[in-house]
Amino acid sequence: MRRPNGEDGLVISVEEHKARVREVVGDRPVVERALPDCAGLVLAEDVTANVSLPPFDNSAMDGYAVRAADVAKAGQDSPVELPVGADIPAGRTDIPTLEPGTAHRIMTGAPMPPGADSVVIVEHTDGGTHRVRISSPATEGAHVRRMGEDVVAGTVTLRAGTVLGPAQLGLGSAVGLDRLPVFEPPRVLVVSTGTELVLPPEPLRHGQIYESNSVMLAAGLSALGCRVKAVRSVADDVSRFRATLEPELADTDLVVTSGGVSAGAYEVVKDALAEAGVEFGKVAMQPGGPQGCGRWNGVPVVTLPGNPVSALVSFEVFLRPTLLAALGHTDTERQRVRARLAETLTSPKGKRQFRRGYYTPGKGQVTGVVGPQGGPGSHLLASFAQANCLIEVAEDVTEAKKDSIVDVLLL
Ligand code: AMP
Ligand code: MG
Repeated sequence: MRRPNGEDGLVISVEEHKARVREVVGDRPVVERALPDCAGLVLAEDVTANVSLPPFDNSAMDGYAVRAADVAKAGQDSPVELPVGADIPAGRTDIPTLEPGTAHRIMTGAPMPPGADSVVIVEHTDGGTHRVRISSPATEGAHVRRMGEDVVAGTVTLRAGTVLGPAQLGLGSAVGLDRLPVFEPPRVLVVSTGTELVLPPEPLRHGQIYESNSVMLAAGLSALGCRVKAVRSVADDVSRFRATLEPELADTDLVVTSGGVSAGAYEVVKDALAEAGVEFGKVAMQPGGPQGCGRWNGVPVVTLPGNPVSALVSFEVFLRPTLLAALGHTDTERQRVRARLAETLTSPKGKRQFRRGYYTPGKGQVTGVVGPQGGPGSHLLASFAQANCLIEVAEDVTEAKKDSIVDVLLL
């Protein structure tokens, strides 16, 4: 018979469990993905530009391509009049040469005609289409965007390790790339367990509650770039748990469960997975003591406790940094700041406490202030929903006094 948690010597530190989770999850393989599917992912290799940016000299403004020498004497009261040779809209590919003493009407982004060295903006002309009166001189190169000014073809444009946000993806496409090598996002199966769980808008009967962990964890995982599928409620029944989930494993890279791992009598996750080789134990933290991780038919599994606050704090402490690292991010931790505590907090001896808090930054050199948001209870989800940080109280601290300086993780 298994002894209750915590009495079997399986109490491990936050760092130890984090290292186990990291080891079980491992690193993601490199794959080529179409650009639109790369948003938020990390580039796995340096990539070089297929073309220069701009790919050709072009006009930065709507106006007239000219030779600066031809309009040198133009002024407000002494406009220079030139015949308009051609119209060059953006996208025209057969570009007529500019003869001396003439102008071509040109649009933003259109190639500069050979023979022209500058652009006079339309506002400094009468806008003529056969002949144009130009009322200001142009310096050579005015309003011309030079080929290769931004990127030179063949050079590295995006470096390995870059997080692919809107600007990076736009640049990738601008230099002619349609696929990029990225760390493949894992397909994560999120599983909520508990016979008491009901999905909204189903009416609740006494003794039932609405399921909340799966949507919460799915949102957290999606924000990291994971592809999530969720089984929102599995009853506390070992054979049904196995029968429901085993068929899903074939196309799953990571299973994240919540509930069913503590010291009660109906701990379905523990009962179903302990013999499959998943290790369960107690981590010296509050909330989120009962944790587990391992492999199930070869698929990494991380089992989180069921209380919603415990589940989300566990996600923050263990899964978020692990998955960011697995996906190639170097910036894996929440920003940590020091803040002055607005009221005294107590914390259990020997456990690292993560309290939901509200942090207000200080101005200038003044340290920010943090207060607890709600009590330490791991069922107080509304307080979490109003928090903007976690207050971290170290294992050896049992009381953090008002006005003392504490560590805060900004969410
Ligand atoms: P457990 O770890 O399964 O004993 O669950 C601990 C507490 O969290 C119980 O009060 C459960 O009803 C609650 N709980 C477990 N899973 C969920 C869930 N997915 N959504 C909301 N509450 C849950
Ligand atoms: Mg349960």
